[in-house]
This record gives sequence, C-alpha cells and structure tokens, in this order.
Amino acid sequence: MSIRIREIRIGKEELRKMYVNRRVAVKMRCKDCCAGSNLAIQACDAAKCPLFLMRMTGIWPRANTESSRENHRKHAIRDYCLHCMNGQRQFIHECIDIQCSLWEFRSLK
Ligand code: SF4
Ligand code: SF4
Repeated sequence: MSIRIREIRIGKEELRKMYVNRRVAVKMRCKDCCAGSNLAIQACDAAKCPLFLMRMTGIWPRANTESSRENHRKHAIRDYCLHCMNGQRQFIHECIDIQCSLWEFRSLK
C-alpha cells in the first residue's frame, strides 16, 4: 500500500503535515462530505457515489487481498474525481484543490 506524506503550505507557512494512504484519504473525504459527522457517514444513502461501499472502512467489501482492495480504491477515487470534474477527465490532472484528501491520489498511478 502506498503511504505518502501530506504537506499543505501557504507561502512559507506549513499548515498541516500528515501521513495518508488511499484508505485514509477515502475516509477523510467522507468526513469532509459529512461535515465531520461519523453518524452522517453511516447514514449516507448516496449509493451511486463511487466511495459509498468503502465509506466507513476504506475497504472494498468484496475484495479479499490487499492488492485488489488497493486497486478498487484507486479506481473508486478516480471515478469520484471524474464525477467532481463533471466527467471532464483532463481537468482531474489540473485540479488545484490541495485541501481535498484525494488530491495526491487523483491519478491512477
Ligand atoms: S460515500 Fe460519497 S456521498 Fe457518502 S459520505 Fe462518502 S463521499 Fe459523501
Ligand atoms: S482531488 Fe480534485 S478532482 Fe478529485 S475530488 Fe478532490 S477536488 Fe475533486
């Protein structure tokens, strides 16, 4: 599983630095979406959201190996970004919202 260091800076001032992987990034995205409420994440009924099945655990339910889970996460994040960018694939690469927890993982690489 890939683990990356997250540093967000404005000018020279460091705002936050944390370790995230795709599993954590998905959970953070859901937390943002639900204004920080775990209850709201649990109650989410947006079954069409690409992150829906993994919103509580960051784990794709039917995947039984770590590499297949990671693969599902990768594609779910990509689909989420595609939806966020209104289906315009080329804009995903150009996204400048570094506060979004999925930002580092928006490409399939
Ligand atoms: S699954 Fe989608 S709609 Fe539901 S909380 Fe997560 S990001 Fe929001
Ligand atoms: S990384 Fe950018 S394109 Fe992807 S969900 Fe976040 S804001 Fe949208």
